[in-house]
Amino acid sequence: MQIDVLTLFPAMFEGPLSDSMMGAARLRGLLDFQAHDIRNAAEDAHRSVDDTPYGGGGGMILRVDVLTRALETLQPAEAPVILLTPQGRTFSHQIASELATHDRLILVCGHYEGVDERFRHYVSDEISIGDYVLTGGELAAMVVIDAVVRLQPGLLGAEHAATQDSFATGLLEGPHYTRPREFRGESVPDVLLSGHHAEIERWRRKQALRRTWERRPELLKTAPLSEEDARLLGEFAREWSLLRLAGER
Ligand code: SAM
Repeated sequence: MQIDVLTLFPAMFEGPLSDSMMGAARLRGLLDFQAHDIRNAAEDAHRSVDDTPYGGGGGMILRVDVLTRALETLQPAEAPVILLTPQGRTFSHQIASELATHDRLILVCGHYEGVDERFRHYVSDEISIGDYVLTGGELAAMVVIDAVVRLQPGLLGAEHAATQDSFATGLLEGPHYTRPREFRGESVPDVLLSGHHAEIERWRRKQALRRTWERRPELLKTAPLSEEDARLLGEFAREWSLLRLAGER
């Protein structure tokens, strides 16, 4: 997959996209990443990319002419052009999976007070990574890149790992344990040591349902659930009401 980023700070991407799994994805040819400096598209002697807002007010705005020139150096490209902005649709596993189907993505990072409104006509999508405001789109772009690239087939050791992750199944994933078997009086659940694969899978499903029910109950409205899942959820609800009656919740 090819990902191009337009940014005022290309160096910000060096560490995060060279280390760990993103570094491995690049070494293995699963990610072809390039950060392009928007400033290269500036035309004046000062290489200006921004200006003060019409109508007054504080801050600086990224200029539409500079941004479109920067974008046009990458085009024509059959690729979605995504502007990172707190006003975009909120990023999710579903959006990451959708973006992972493309061969190429172009991400545009805003800065200062944001971008001239007219630049929005040149993008095909606008993504926010959450309801808060960052100083620039770079960290948001890195979040999107990591979430999308880790879904590329062949990147994670076991394919299983990504398909069982939180949100991929519509639920949160259940708890994990590793050595030591006992830690400060707390043991690993017996079923995980039983070697009985079907029992382990049942236990894991139950834990995922319980965790989702406790932490993100709204996910259960859209998660694909079997009759057995519905029965287990009924059990949790009964347990929970009993605990409430006993004053423990
Ligand atoms: N004035 C803008 C507003 O209120 O919507 C915020 C501008 S912000 C300080 C500067 C840049 O950071 C934005 O243009 C965008 O690229 C990026 N940014 C900030 N928060 C973001 C978020 N939650 N998701 C994605 N990008 C974000």
